Amino acid sequence: MNSAAPSASPAAVELSAAPDRAAAAERAAQLFEESFGYQPDGVWSAPGRVNIIGEHVDYQDGLCLPMAISHRCFAAAARTPTNRLRLRSVQDETVLDIDARTLSPETVTGWPAYVAGVLWALGSRISGASTRGMDILIDGQVPLGAGLSSSAALECSAAEAIEDLLSLGTEPLDRVRAAITAETDFAGASTGGLDQSASVLSREGHALFLDCRDFSTRPVPWDLASQGLALLITDTRAEHSHVDGEYTARRADSEQAARELGVDTLRDVEATDPAALETLLATIQDEVVRRRAHHVITEIQRVREFGALLAAGTVRENVTELGALLNASHDSLREDYEVTVAQLDVAVDAARAAGAHGARMTGGGFGGSTIALVEAEQAEQVAAAIAAAFTEQGFEAPVFFLALPSEGAGQDR
Ligand code: ADP
Ligand code: MG
Repeated sequence: MNSAAPSASPAAVELSAAPDRAAAAERAAQLFEESFGYQPDGVWSAPGRVNIIGEHVDYQDGLCLPMAISHRCFAAAARTPTNRLRLRSVQDETVLDIDARTLSPETVTGWPAYVAGVLWALGSRISGASTRGMDILIDGQVPLGAGLSSSAALECSAAEAIEDLLSLGTEPLDRVRAAITAETDFAGASTGGLDQSASVLSREGHALFLDCRDFSTRPVPWDLASQGLALLITDTRAEHSHVDGEYTARRADSEQAARELGVDTLRDVEATDPAALETLLATIQDEVVRRRAHHVITEIQRVREFGALLAAGTVRENVTELGALLNASHDSLREDYEVTVAQLDVAVDAARAAGAHGARMTGGGFGGSTIALVEAEQAEQVAAAIAAAFTEQGFEAPVFFLALPSEGAGQDR
């Protein structure tokens, strides 16, 4: 891991920028050789992701806008003339050595399930059971469990390696699906597919406009680097213990709102005019359900507006409006959807006060990370202000990452 814990002193805050990609691929190849005693056939990698805007709208057929971050997971791999699948990770000492023909969700536990699950999901494409032997060494830069999707980075780097090693002829979307299947059906975790789509399909300098109704995607320009801008990610380290129940309740509220409004999903509500929306929402009986619907409908509209601004000009030209949309998204998640916690609100407020163009929580909420759109040269100052606010509140020190929109999964060497 390359993330360094920041000091409690605001003056000494540390931002974790991803190490050079070529150097990291080289390191993975070397570690493979040390581990397995011979050189790998190649090195593949896939990035983590962050959602820029469009939160808690996926289950109402909404729109969202993730981007791949600079931190990646590397998979150095080689085909072997055996039937064994052997897996190792620099980040976890658990190893796997299994007859690759016997893979099933019951036979693999722990982190290797995410990788073995990809091989299993692609199984029907593999001609001949005896061609499955391979050795894979994983070296990840995406922090585990910080909401930046280390799991998708892991699955998708493995999917690229397996595709090339076995010459399967899969399309990128096939690999997205295999990674989703690995996570849900094999590792037994839940995922909506945004993470894997972003990890495989993202383009450098772009965000990925994703329509959750049909999972269609298109890249939109989001070239922060050339505009002197950056996205500061703050892992607040806050964890909530009843997240699953809260998510279930939010889904139920949204479904009830859709029923009362007579639509299949809240995506079908066109809400360009705030006054008309208020009138419409007034027909919903329950005040809480009304606020939940207000969030989902206005958030989908914000993603539309954000996407339109990015299509129309540079981030620099529209930075004020873009920042305002990020701010409005957070405020809606705090007041209408009620999925923030104190750490998320404090990080966002401190970032805004320190000069960020806009800031919001990202991911499911109840803990996890925030993002702030900042001038690249001010990133450290904004991070220091967030760290100071956390110290003042007595919160655990946050961890900071600097991210630029990066290239999706691919081969490194
Ligand atoms: P997130 O995807 O937000 O980081 P998850 O809980 O979905 O959090 O996925 C984290 C899990 O993914 C880890 O517990 C581990 O099983 C697996 N994982 C991710 N990256 C690695 C890695 N480099 N080495 C081993 N396991 C990893
Ligand atoms: Mg995950």
